[in-house]
Amino acid sequence: MTSNTTATATATPPSPAGPAPRLPLPLPALHATVLDWYEASKRDLPWRTPDASPWAVMVSEFMLQQTPVKRVLPAWAAWLERWPTPADLAADAPGEAVRMWGRLGYPRRALRLHAAAVAITEEHGGEVPDDHATLLSLPGVGEYTAAAVASFAFRQRHVVLDTNVRRVFARAVTGVEYPAQATTAAERRTATALLPDDAGTAATWAVGVMELGALVCTARSPECGECPLFTHCAWQRAGRPPYEGPARRGQSYEGTDRQVRGKLLAVLREAHGSVEQARLDAVWPDAVQRARALDGLVADGLVEPVEQGVYRLPQ
Ligand code: SF4
Repeated sequence: MTSNTTATATATPPSPAGPAPRLPLPLPALHATVLDWYEASKRDLPWRTPDASPWAVMVSEFMLQQTPVKRVLPAWAAWLERWPTPADLAADAPGEAVRMWGRLGYPRRALRLHAAAVAITEEHGGEVPDDHATLLSLPGVGEYTAAAVASFAFRQRHVVLDTNVRRVFARAVTGVEYPAQATTAAERRTATALLPDDAGTAATWAVGVMELGALVCTARSPECGECPLFTHCAWQRAGRPPYEGPARRGQSYEGTDRQVRGKLLAVLREAHGSVEQARLDAVWPDAVQRARALDGLVADGLVEPVEQGVYRLPQ
């Protein structure tokens, strides 16, 4: 495995124009506070070790986008054992990626990761690219993933804005309980202004703020008494004003097409071959919803029709 600690200084995109954010404390003190906390409190996660390859980091970022760490850990280890390099995954069928994705949810991520592995193998000599723009050109890699891989695998300086980071900045800097539903120019401006100048320090800052949001400044019950920013946090100092934005979407699952898709895909994952319609019909009583879910899986490329009434994972 290659090292993930190679320091490569890369300029982060310029901050969007607008007023500078009001900082909860001077930047050097803010950086030191969060970095010290991270050093003392960080979780021991395998994709953060010095010998984790850029590919291992990239796989973790795809998996962690919508799935908690606890569920990702065994899936990530099994994935890397089976496909230790992008070329290993690219040589296998996309359906095998869907099978290995198991119950992580949002399985289109498995297809995208497979497509990224093919592109890395065919166009980048089998090595995960180390520059943000090239990462962004890979299938399934958006702004967040490109920044996260460049920052965590290659120790570059980038604004890495996930939901945890956005929530910490919303509270500690802006003084509101939750950020807007979609990332705003003001948030990007704040994140850019807070980024340490040194590339390696910026990379640790990015993961440190993310960890603070994941462990302490959580969405529903922040443990402010445990927070290193407690006395400086703008939301605390304002008396924790309640959220006044639009209703926040809940993550319903029971009875949804997502649940039906999950049940259909589970049958195909476990089958190791083609599956007759009757076996799929057995997983859900509502024929209309079942057909809609199956059509959606086929349209997304997660399921392949073999012949009338016979299906399989994509070959
Ligand atoms: S004091 Fe509370 S709300 Fe403020 S950053 Fe810390 S955990 Fe979040």
